[in-house]
Amino acid sequence: MLANARENLRAACDQLNIHPDVYEELKWPRETLAVSLLIRMDDGSRRAFKAWRCRYNDRRGPTKGGVRFHPNVSLDEIETLSFWMTFKCAVANLPFGGGKGGVCVDTKQLSPTELERVSRAYIEAFAPFIGPDHDILAPDMYTNGIVIAWMSDEYSSITGQPSPTALTGKPLAFGGTVGRVDATARGGYYTLRHLEASLDLDPDKSTVAVQGFGNVGYHCAKLLHADGYKIVGISDSSGGVYDADGLDPLAVMQHKHETGSVQGAKGHGETRDISNAELLEADCDVLVPAALERQITAENCDRIKARIILEMANGPLSPEADRALTQNGHIIVPDILANAGGVTVSHLEWVQNRSGFYWDESRVRDHLKKTMETETRAVWTLHNEMDLTMREAAYIHGLRRIAESVEARGTQA
Ligand code: GLU
Repeated sequence: MLANARENLRAACDQLNIHPDVYEELKWPRETLAVSLLIRMDDGSRRAFKAWRCRYNDRRGPTKGGVRFHPNVSLDEIETLSFWMTFKCAVANLPFGGGKGGVCVDTKQLSPTELERVSRAYIEAFAPFIGPDHDILAPDMYTNGIVIAWMSDEYSSITGQPSPTALTGKPLAFGGTVGRVDATARGGYYTLRHLEASLDLDPDKSTVAVQGFGNVGYHCAKLLHADGYKIVGISDSSGGVYDADGLDPLAVMQHKHETGSVQGAKGHGETRDISNAELLEADCDVLVPAALERQITAENCDRIKARIILEMANGPLSPEADRALTQNGHIIVPDILANAGGVTVSHLEWVQNRSGFYWDESRVRDHLKKTMETETRAVWTLHNEMDLTMREAAYIHGLRRIAESVEARGTQA
């Protein structure tokens, strides 16, 4: 995947005629550490879990990014995600570089105590690698505030003093910020709303399908639904539901809590169960992939009906699908812009931890809204002025900032 992601970098470097040193520097991660976490399981056995932390590039500041717990996590995935974080932080104009971490583990197979041991072992293994001015961690798929609290507690034990600033996404009672839980979704929501006029999108007449019903997918559906968008499809890892008359995200979440799946939930009309593949191909105006990478590929892209794709997941489209959909007139609002809201509020958490002064919700939201609107406008303008796709424009927007910080330090070394 990193090789593919690098193509976006190559294209942006060529467009901007950037100093060759910049491409050379951004081609590979600065450093990646791989370890095996040895965990004592509840039954007394010992199991090894592969784990990584990658610091991709730190020219604009300490590296920043989440930790993903997923059975298919791989080195290539972590390095690619940290490459995307580098650009995402630059697009959002944060004083951060990009990083990412992961553990190859299926959290659904772990007891809470085993999950806690994995979380603490991760920090023990990577403690020398992380820190408030070096590498700052956050939640990602299957790591929530509880996992981050264990991690933060472990990091504080290792440093011998309360050290909340090395991790963001902490619970409120443990040095977190208001507004972090729904920040990723809210950022994408502000981006879409800001583009409504440009995209000729009327909330009251538009339909949305959301793939993934975790933190990002759920809050995105909820926010859009509250503004009049009709949510016609929702799916999670076990399948989906479709209702042309609309679904209430709150009711679907309630059903998921009760049964473990969104399937079987009832909407306003004739609700039917569908597969994840059908969700992606559903009849709708806006498709919101909010799950894993590479959900839309050369294989299924011809059947995508949504005119607009809001990439709330990281890398949900393969490069082939990206090209084909663009050629066919679909508008893709790229991940490094659309889902930058999470890390933007993580930055605010880091700022608050450093200053010891805590903001109220409206201040956090105002800042997030302003950031998303400013950067969305900048990307949209580049897209129009330079006749680029929004993805190309977002890469150019981020690359300009990264290149400035590379060049500001001189190119003699
Ligand atoms: N994991 C989130 C992302 O992919 C948030 C990262 C952060 O807050 O550092 O953007």
